Amino acid sequence: MKQLRTCVLVFLLFICCARSFSSTNYSYFRIPIALLTKQFVQSTGFIRDHKWDDTYAFGYISIEKVRALPQAVQPYTIELDALDWAQNDYDPKTLQVRNLAISSSASYEAYHTYETLTEELRNLAEAYPNLATLNTAGKSVEGRQLWYLRISSQSKSIAKPKLLYISSMHGDEVVGKELMVYLARELLSSYGTDDRITRLVDYGDIFVMPSMNPDGTAQKQRFNSHGADLNRSFPFLSSRNESESYEPEIQAIMDLHRKIHFLVALNFHGGSLCMNIPWDSHPNQTAEQLFGDDPVMRWMARNYADRNKPMYNVHYANFVHGVTYGFEWYQILGGMQDWASHYEQSIHATAEVSNVKWPQASTLPTFWQDNKDSLLQYLEDGLMGVHLRVTDTHGNLLPVNVKVDSLRRSLKYSGIVHRVTAAGLQRVTIEAKGYQMKILDLPAALFVGSFHDITLEPEK
Ligand SMILES: [Zn+2]
Repeated sequence: MKQLRTCVLVFLLFICCARSFSSTNYSYFRIPIALLTKQFVQSTGFIRDHKWDDTYAFGYISIEKVRALPQAVQPYTIELDALDWAQNDYDPKTLQVRNLAISSSASYEAYHTYETLTEELRNLAEAYPNLATLNTAGKSVEGRQLWYLRISSQSKSIAKPKLLYISSMHGDEVVGKELMVYLARELLSSYGTDDRITRLVDYGDIFVMPSMNPDGTAQKQRFNSHGADLNRSFPFLSSRNESESYEPEIQAIMDLHRKIHFLVALNFHGGSLCMNIPWDSHPNQTAEQLFGDDPVMRWMARNYADRNKPMYNVHYANFVHGVTYGFEWYQILGGMQDWASHYEQSIHATAEVSNVKWPQASTLPTFWQDNKDSLLQYLEDGLMGVHLRVTDTHGNLLPVNVKVDSLRRSLKYSGIVHRVTAAGLQRVTIEAKGYQMKILDLPAALFVGSFHDITLEPEK
């Protein structure tokens, strides 16, 4: 380790005078974690992966930049086969496989390909025309559709909370994609017989996108077909340039959010086991730094991890029984959860659902069993809170700002308000320009079609 430390010092000296390179030919490497200074990441463009231990980090970096590292550092910097790494459970230190997870290409067949996924989603929408519609948010670089199923019964024509699941924005992290299919099947086939699911489908408006990066999955790689890491390509919190152009998959997700306000969302990854909550890009140490809806976000993440035993058992360093703040795990910029939570008024987290990114297909039913209750619970939590219909004295809906005392964010609504909160009594402040403010104490409840009707009087 001492030798390694010396090498790191040599390296830090080196990057002080390193010039930037232009290659985007990325390879997958293990590098000493001690190298991971801000300077290193900025000067090399290193994209960190999920897997790490106390000594090593893993991620993508251009081979030219690795070759330009000082000789002393090179022995500690090892190139790996990204796909092989994704499919097996390697020990980060010995680089030995811990348990042989996969070997033959035959096991891929049990995973959905783009074609079989398209067929299955189409079949589900056709089989349950009163509950599901198949839609697309847009197309990938190579023209594949970004399918999503919208699942909700038509029996209630009310403004329902919109709830969103997205998986596999990293193309080689595919367990979540299959969980989405299991979930869609379950919601549709158990509607009318299972009370919990019937209530979810009656009162929630559920959007399920199994594959946000179908090109990446087809090529069994993390990136999209332009080589972009989609979880680093959303507008940064520190700067949003309206005229900037984005990867087609990113633009599609942004457009979908512009059309539909998702109260809660969750995006699914592999390579670790945890609920990763905002912020990814900023520290989460003080009250001012924390996400404005942090208490409800933490409560939802806790509910997810508590119901998933392998995830719950992850308890060390920054992981509290499977829940961590993003930044305190490792910082990322341009991620989806920070973007949606900051710019789109969502409560959006990241679920890491498998240590191995592309495990043997025969293990998928076990992943479903581990995640089923959690997946239903997270949706249910999205229905919990205060539900208001705010009008003027003539009965017209009023655009309002709504704040609850347990949370720091004040959010804007068109007059129909679903404010997600944890259970319990909530002090709610309702404000509209030109009207008298109202403060009410309301118990949080599951949305079952009823709103508190609130009338605001004009200011005197
Ligand atoms: Zn990922």
